[in-house]
Amino acid sequence: MISSLFKPEEFGEMFKNEQFEEIYSLSSKDFQDLISLEDFIELSMSFNEGVNYYKLEFKSILKGLNHYIWLDDRESKAISVSVDKNLQIQSLLLKPYGASVESDTVYTKNKYSMPIEDEWVVYWGGANEMVNYHYTYENQRYAYDLVKTGKDNGTNKDTDYLNENYFAFSKDILAPEDGKVIKVIDGVKDNVPGEMNANNPEGNYVIIEHANKEYSMLAHLKKGSIKVKTGEQVNEGQHIGHCGNSGNSSEPHLHFQVMDSADLEKAKSIRIRFKDDYEPIRGDTISNKKENKDSFEDRVEKAENALTFTDFILAIPRAIAQIFK
Ligand SMILES: [Zn+2]
Repeated sequence: MISSLFKPEEFGEMFKNEQFEEIYSLSSKDFQDLISLEDFIELSMSFNEGVNYYKLEFKSILKGLNHYIWLDDRESKAISVSVDKNLQIQSLLLKPYGASVESDTVYTKNKYSMPIEDEWVVYWGGANEMVNYHYTYENQRYAYDLVKTGKDNGTNKDTDYLNENYFAFSKDILAPEDGKVIKVIDGVKDNVPGEMNANNPEGNYVIIEHANKEYSMLAHLKKGSIKVKTGEQVNEGQHIGHCGNSGNSSEPHLHFQVMDSADLEKAKSIRIRFKDDYEPIRGDTISNKKENKDSFEDRVEKAENALTFTDFILAIPRAIAQIFK
């Protein structure tokens, strides 16, 4: 069996060595339905042009999926791969790297804290589409999807079809910064995990207006859990509602974003500047507990890095360091 010999960490080398048939045979049926072997080989050959080697830059484990990102030696191309427990390749993304959009350089004027208590994990988040699926959409480009995990990095215990079995469900969601509540939608029922409600994508949500005409949105909240009213002034850290599974949500999680308008049709997502100058990405464990913060030196270094174009590359080594702690 080929798969028993497959070491995901060596994927970059396999790809460079043109072991495309082997890679193709390791990929899921869904992937094979998307692209034929011939097309895959052709695409991969042309992707490899000018590349001397690929280096592994990122690894995270979430919900039993190992996610890896390789960059080529010139850091102009990226390969993103996720592999399941059976060593089957579930996703493979080849793309140019470093072609940043202008909005990547514009951060919120206000500083925010993560709207959660205790430890959560960033399921999607960061300023590129490999670590953040929202990135493709301008209106939610810098959004975060946050979950809570247990043993084995899973997000639920026991059966997966009950919201109550998910670690994030019903947990308190907090205001990320002082402001005024300007929109509250409640009454959308929580989905059975695995099902989605595309008619009300945001589900139950709250929009808070902050200084500098910045607006935060907390979405997919639990039905009937919202504690604040439109027009109400709230303070950072104030309890807003409970994490739920309403709207276009396949399992309990919080969607958090900051935007330039309260009008969801017109709003553009803004990259979030955090109070501790630490910008989490996919796979990071986040916390509002003071003792988990980085040392002062690390924070100064990160604050400097945060505004440079290469910030994703700089962010990767620390992500690896965190995961293997
Ligand atoms: Zn989301």
